[in-house]
Amino acid sequence: MDITKNIELLLEEIPATVKLVAVSKTKSNEEIMQAYNAGQRVFGENKIQEMSRKYEELPKDIQWHMIGHVQSNKVKYMAPYVSLIHGVDSQKLLKEIDKQALRNNRVIDCLLQIRIAEEESKFGLSIEACHEAIEMAKSLQSTKIVGLMGMATLTNDQSQIAKEFEILKTLYDQLIHQNVPLEIISMGMSEDYPIAIKKGSNMIRVGSKIFGLRNY
Ligand SMILES: *Cc1c(COP(=O)(O)O)cnc(C)c1O
Repeated sequence: MDITKNIELLLEEIPATVKLVAVSKTKSNEEIMQAYNAGQRVFGENKIQEMSRKYEELPKDIQWHMIGHVQSNKVKYMAPYVSLIHGVDSQKLLKEIDKQALRNNRVIDCLLQIRIAEEESKFGLSIEACHEAIEMAKSLQSTKIVGLMGMATLTNDQSQIAKEFEILKTLYDQLIHQNVPLEIISMGMSEDYPIAIKKGSNMIRVGSKIFGLRNY
């Protein structure tokens, strides 16, 4: 895997308005440093312990994004440094993030994860629950909802994927129209980021296309 080359090709391919999160879960510090030396500064992880270890060991100008499902009792471990939490899917979690952000004297940016996939297994808020969470979050001091995140169904059916991303983009546009100050719509991974960008994504989370397949 030529990580440097993969990053360069991706950055050439995607519009400048789309932010690339390099998903480095399971990957070594050496592999991450190859991407870093190619200029990449934003990395995504899905396990708090692994992300915190990498945060300690790697350069401090890396922005760490938590892209996985977050349990409330784990928030305290990333609150001092996390740059963006993508998978916020409950009011309980929002309140815990706020508490820990306050304790660390900082504001933590969050994305609400919306359930757009037909698959039952995926996490995320319903559209109604999303509206309720945004309403509740207005009372929080140290948590800022800056956007939405979604994952499409794992399928080869391109029109199905496009349809699901469109649901997220429609909701995003509606909220902006209602003066909710959102900036980020995080959708698209290695297999479906071209469709996501076509449907209006401005943040893609790409792992295997940069680092190669993961061995768990
Ligand atoms: C692992 C993961 C990705 C990256 O997946 P690839 O298919 O390797 O690009 C993106 N988003 C989330 C939430 C993930 O867990």
